[in-house]
Amino acid sequence: MSEAIRTTCAYCGVGCGIRATPLGERAMKVEGDPDHPANAGRLCSKGTHLGETVGLEGRLLHPMIGNRKASWDRALDLVAKTFRDTIARHGPDSVAFYVSGQLLTEDYYVANKLMKGFIGSANIDTNSRLCMSSAVAGHQRAFGEDVVPASYNDLDAADLIVLVGSNTAWCHPIVYQRIMAARAARGTKLVIIDPRRTETCEEADLHLPLRPGTDVALMNGLLAHVRREGLVDQEYLARHVAVPEGFWDALDVDHDLWSIARTCDLAPADLQRFYDLFAATPRTVTMFSQGINQSIRGTDQVNAIVNVHLATGRIGKPGAAPFSITGQPNAMGGREVGGLASTLAVHRGFGEEDVADVGRFWAAERMATKPGLKAVDLFREIEEGRVKALWVMATNPAVSLPDAARVRAALAKCPFVVVSDCIAETDTSRHAHVRLPAAGWGEKDGTVTNSERWISRQRQVLPLAGEAKPDWWIIKEVGRRMGWRTAFGYDRPADVWREYARLTAYRNDGLRILNLRDKAVIGNADYEAMEPFQWGGTPFADGRYSTPDGKARMIPVVQRQAEASLKDWPMVLNTGRYRDQWHTMTRTGLSPKLARHREEPLVEIHPDDAAALGLADRAIARVSTPQGESLFRVAHHPGQRRGDLFTPIHWTDQQSTGGRTGLLPRPLVDPHSGQPGFKMTPAKIESVAVDWTGFLIVHGEGAAAPKCLWATRVAVPGGALFELAGLGDVAALDAALPRGERMEACDPARGTRRVAVLRDGKLVAALFLTRTGELPSRDWLIAQLSQPQGPQVLAGRAPGAQADRGAIVCVCFDVGVRTIVAAIRDQQLTDVAAIGAALGAGTNCGSCRPALAQLLAAQTKEAVHG
Ligand code: SF4
Repeated sequence: MSEAIRTTCAYCGVGCGIRATPLGERAMKVEGDPDHPANAGRLCSKGTHLGETVGLEGRLLHPMIGNRKASWDRALDLVAKTFRDTIARHGPDSVAFYVSGQLLTEDYYVANKLMKGFIGSANIDTNSRLCMSSAVAGHQRAFGEDVVPASYNDLDAADLIVLVGSNTAWCHPIVYQRIMAARAARGTKLVIIDPRRTETCEEADLHLPLRPGTDVALMNGLLAHVRREGLVDQEYLARHVAVPEGFWDALDVDHDLWSIARTCDLAPADLQRFYDLFAATPRTVTMFSQGINQSIRGTDQVNAIVNVHLATGRIGKPGAAPFSITGQPNAMGGREVGGLASTLAVHRGFGEEDVADVGRFWAAERMATKPGLKAVDLFREIEEGRVKALWVMATNPAVSLPDAARVRAALAKCPFVVVSDCIAETDTSRHAHVRLPAAGWGEKDGTVTNSERWISRQRQVLPLAGEAKPDWWIIKEVGRRMGWRTAFGYDRPADVWREYARLTAYRNDGLRILNLRDKAVIGNADYEAMEPFQWGGTPFADGRYSTPDGKARMIPVVQRQAEASLKDWPMVLNTGRYRDQWHTMTRTGLSPKLARHREEPLVEIHPDDAAALGLADRAIARVSTPQGESLFRVAHHPGQRRGDLFTPIHWTDQQSTGGRTGLLPRPLVDPHSGQPGFKMTPAKIESVAVDWTGFLIVHGEGAAAPKCLWATRVAVPGGALFELAGLGDVAALDAALPRGERMEACDPARGTRRVAVLRDGKLVAALFLTRTGELPSRDWLIAQLSQPQGPQVLAGRAPGAQADRGAIVCVCFDVGVRTIVAAIRDQQLTDVAAIGAALGAGTNCGSCRPALAQLLAAQTKEAVHG
């Protein structure tokens, strides 16, 4: 067997190290890297199952012009010529790049240099705009530089961890496990501030389910409280922080406990408990993510958190910091090189000196002198015809941007769209004139930066698929063909790295913390062997910030009035992630194991709201907003606030006729960061009548979804599972069945129809439909795919088979919810470790441990209350 290669996970900003061992050309064994500082060998469910996603299924393997294969030369020449001609006719701002936190730092650097230094526009923005640009703007306002002033080590050293707007247990599972380990070792207190009661809340000391959008009031109230208690660190403020005149006077108005509790819709006693705990605990880390950032007040919310830490001097010290944790694996690398339209490069802006310095360093032909279009504005400019050539790299804006129907219309109208991606068919690539096959994770070579500023090598484990090429290579080839052969003369990622590292040090007089001087002259072998390292050490430990006077800034922020609820849109829609899926599922959707945690896109609603609206659990419902509508499966969830809905961001046209969350949010953005407010959209929900429900299991890849009202696809071993619901005659579904010998059983009285299709005596499809709602477990039928079968398969279960396991909670050991509940009850299990000992659940990656804790709590409650 080959040797393990040290690389990094493809998914979230935790940035876990991986040891990947190639097993032939298109498979690998994946293990956590015990020597990586971010995870010390642990991986969550997504990282653990990365090996299931590296096959060729769905890959784009050749350059395509329209629907025809093309040579790389032809495709690249066409891209370069069209961009050049468009710029010549309409100016540099008529073209744009929309890139991604999936790119490596070297890819990002070359794209940024091409757009901002040679094309002469700053129209390059990244999908990280949707994820953490409010944190960037907040850091710049407070610190003078976009520096995350914390490390995971601070979680180990803290006495109190406050998680704000973060379902850490699902979205950053290894960080969550680290928090749990700190609690076990040191009794670290944990407070969750989140409108939803998520699995992250299970182990918390306190959960504050605040009214959505009232975080500024809560944090300003906390600041007023610590001031009343005499806990403002006056010496730190005097030496290291500039406080605007009148700042404290504003806090004296309406920031008493009762007013804040009313604004935030929280119990005053709970609020008091949090404020007292915070006041009494100098070693506090406040970690925040999308619940704070994805708001039209995101930047103010970030600064409200940072203000409290500055005022109490809880920054730059072990276990004390505000901590923005990023979503994507290399969102931070993008921030560093300048992948956002609002920054130039290496933490420099568009000031005269910045533009002159970077231009000189690049020997730039035509420097951008002002910020470019941020994501939402960019697609509006495309729609209005001002941007005429767009290059989308490694992202799927037709799904992920707010008001996605409008984004699709813009893409359809754009005269020239290039998509470079590893996936052949996405909702975005449908609109591409040219598709360029990019290297997938496992084939890439470069660096990434995680949420705590550790830079790690991502190394190539597998050969490039088909004719795929690394992104940095594709971009530099276009740059060379546009006429800039010397500026884009890189031969390898190490060439790009050295230039980038030199730029961070260029005319850096100590004002910018991002400075990779030590890594700027390394040879190719040293780059290859580069160990993970953290830039910036402990930022601000000396109290010096990246502003002209060296002082941080307290930023006055006020709680804006809550929007009045609109008569036609009485609910508030919140959106987010599932534990085992990533973005638009182009990769995680390939893993049968990951698919089992949540097989359909659910709309979560409080049971009392559901009862008032006549929405049964597992019914189909239509969620509408002024932007659009989509169907979802209803899930009653007591952890939802009354009046709030929650839907997942992952489903696309490729997997479902519904679940299209991207169609629903408003394209309203934060005025400072340009980040869309995904977390609060006025909405309504209504029941949708269906005549029948069912499922179809099909062997093999590429089966088309049946044509009916509701059809969602997930991968299963050897095929696909479609969950179905519809109206009228079910005969139309036969068109989705593969050819073969059919066996059928119908019971008109009970409204059931069961069809099995065999080929050479082996099961290739099973269609089960009912008008009464009773359906067998899918598990047994999935296991029968491609197995020899007879008519008994129509029973949907083996004779004497055990009961349905229910939805899979532990994907590593395939343990379902019903199995766990039965074990808790029958074996009288009382803690998560006991469940692990009995069933194995939770003993591998650990991602399901919060869910196990939740099931234990529910069973205990049931036992107590009967
Ligand atoms: Fe990957 Fe999970 Fe680690 Fe995130 S927490 S980097 S998804 S293994």
